[in-house]
Amino acid sequence: MLESLKEATLEANLEIVRRGLVLYTFGNASGISRDEGLVVIKPSGVDYDRLKPEHMVVTDLEGAIVEGELRPSSDLKTHLALYKAFEEIGAVVHTHSENATAWAQAGREIPALGTTHADYFHGPVPCTRELTDDEIEGDYVLNTGTAIIDRFAGIDPLAVPAVLVAGHAPFAWGRDPHEASHNAVVLEAVAKMAFMTVMLNAQCGVSKTLLDRHYFRKHGARATYGQEKLI
Ligand SMILES: [Zn+2]
Repeated sequence: MLESLKEATLEANLEIVRRGLVLYTFGNASGISRDEGLVVIKPSGVDYDRLKPEHMVVTDLEGAIVEGELRPSSDLKTHLALYKAFEEIGAVVHTHSENATAWAQAGREIPALGTTHADYFHGPVPCTRELTDDEIEGDYVLNTGTAIIDRFAGIDPLAVPAVLVAGHAPFAWGRDPHEASHNAVVLEAVAKMAFMTVMLNAQCGVSKTLLDRHYFRKHGARATYGQEKLI
């Protein structure tokens, strides 16, 4: 069942480890088959070097296990909430990568300070509000998803494919597992650059014209980056 999606989701899980975004078993990636309404997600607490496609857990959008011997990632309900709210996305990646997590712990959005950021994120990477005590003591993982969705009111999730959860860490997403893991890796690089930039010059900033030029070079109908044909 969903063999190619399991392989792509496993690969996204391994990519975030290879790129240094994950310590031990922190972090998880999932992918969705929109046609079948099924989600493939990493199992909870399994070492990455032992992970195989058959370990991936298949659930429906309510979290019921459809296939798999292992328990799904403990963050499953956040992933499911994002799939329900953001219909264009096909994969979600969660890490505790150090630099993005530092911004999340500071409760600060990552400002768009240069063209590397603008190539991937059209505007700041937002940070959610803090969860209330009731939300933390209640259905915490689902409420994390709700806080993200609330923060994205008026924001196109494909134009800004990541968020910081205040006091916690980032989530990134994309149209497929490859794109979601790529966005998580770029988010960490952008977070590190922004941290250093703000340390060097707290008053820094660049024009919206420059940021827009870079974003729309890669995205939308007038994108010109890359090749029209594969070579
Ligand atoms: Zn986490």
